[in-house]
Order: sequence, then structure tokens, then C-alpha cells
Amino acid sequence: MLFDTHCHLDDPRLHQELDAVLERAKEAGVRRITTIGCAHDVASVSSAIDIAHRHSDWISATVGVHPHDAKELDDALCDAIRTAGTDSSVVAIGETGLDFHYDHSPRDAQIDAFRMQIAIAKELKKPLIIHTRSAPEETLRVLREERASDVGGIIHCFSEDAPFAAAALDLGFVSSFSGIVTFSKAIEVQEAARRQPADALLIETDAPYLAPSPKRGKRNEPAYVAHTAKRIAELRGEDPESLAEVSYDNAIRIFRLQD
Ligand SMILES: [Zn+2]
Ligand SMILES: [Zn+2]
Repeated sequence: MLFDTHCHLDDPRLHQELDAVLERAKEAGVRRITTIGCAHDVASVSSAIDIAHRHSDWISATVGVHPHDAKELDDALCDAIRTAGTDSSVVAIGETGLDFHYDHSPRDAQIDAFRMQIAIAKELKKPLIIHTRSAPEETLRVLREERASDVGGIIHCFSEDAPFAAAALDLGFVSSFSGIVTFSKAIEVQEAARRQPADALLIETDAPYLAPSPKRGKRNEPAYVAHTAKRIAELRGEDPESLAEVSYDNAIRIFRLQD
């Protein structure tokens, strides 16, 4: 009973064999998936939504502009996201946030796009999916200034430390742990996963990126979320099945799904 709360099924590496990918996910115990829509222009806004519509009994979608593409967010794209955000399959806005590691978009553009998407999420009353890399203070500052706590959401692919997770949780943002937690050198992420309150913990693959150990280096897919769940349970000294169930229920609550 697993919920992959963040993957990119519209990525060609998964989409080209989507039926097989979804079949393997089911065999591995994945009961629900949220596929993240990262638009880079108006035409690409619905790519995740289209997948969710075809599998509406277990796949939901999000819509947003990744910080890498923040420079593309003009008025037309903003309007398209606001409209798509009202679709019944859309459970959150994002991923948005700040990536000061790659700096694929200028930092000012990233901050503007982040603020704009928080405003859309508040307007639509949907939670936010936050991507943050090498910008912990700035991310928390924008969330505070824009009162993102009104809607809350998820810090996805958690790669910070336990104090960051606690500060985010104070603002209404739970943490979603990816395959990073299975990497032996990720001591701080493991410590954060250990200390995270049980009702504020999610699990994701971020597929096709970041396959967990022992699949590290391969193309990731939702079925591998089981490896990450197992490792988190180990770190917390919990039974893998009950951890899977609690994190599944958390995701249902945060995405406001019926189950
Ligand atoms: Zn991300
Ligand atoms: Zn992502």
C-alpha cells in the first residue's frame, strides 16, 4: 500500500512504456501516484493532466512551472496554469520553488515565478509542491512572506536537514523523501527522515530521476518507491507496512483525495 507522491510520468523515458511502468508499479504495491506537470509553455500545461484522466481511478496530477523554467512564466502561461489548476484531476500546484544549484533561470525570475504560483495556489485553495535546492533560507522566506501556510503543501525530494524540515512544517509543509534517503552519504536527510513526525512524512520516487539504492544509476520508476519506503522504515525502527500505510494516509489527506 504505497503512494508515489511525486514522479514525472509524462517524461519520454517513462511515457514511451507507460503501460509496463504502471503494471510494475501495481505489482510492487503502489496504489496511487501523483504525476507532476512541469509546463514550459502553454501547450505543455496539460501533459500530466492527460495521463491522470486516462487513469483517474489511481493517478492524480499537478500543474506548475519548475524553477528551471521560471523565465518562461509570462501572463499567458500563468493564465493557462490557473485554468488547468481547476481541473478535477489536479491535486496541487507545482512543482515551484527555488533552485540556486543549477540556476537554469535567473534567481529574480525564480522568485517571481514562485510568488506567482503561491498566489495561484491560494486562489484555487490547493496545496503547493515545493522544489528547493541550495536555497533553504530564501525558500522559507518566500513561503513566509507570501503566507503560503494558508494552503501548505509538500517539500518534495527532501534534501535539506532536520531543522529545515521542522521550519517548513511550522509553515504547513510536510516533507516527501525520495531515493536520496537510501544513499549512504545522505546522513542529514536520513536524520531528517528519522525525526520527521509520522503524520508529516511522505514518500516519492521523483522518477525518472534519482533511483534509490539498489537501483541507483538506473532510470527510476514508481515501482522503486518500495525500496525507499523500506529504508525509511528501517531508519525509524518501524514496520515497513505500517510506515507505508501511515504515509499513504498522509498523502490522501494532503491531496484531499477520497479513498
Ligand atoms: Zn523537483
Ligand atoms: Zn519533480
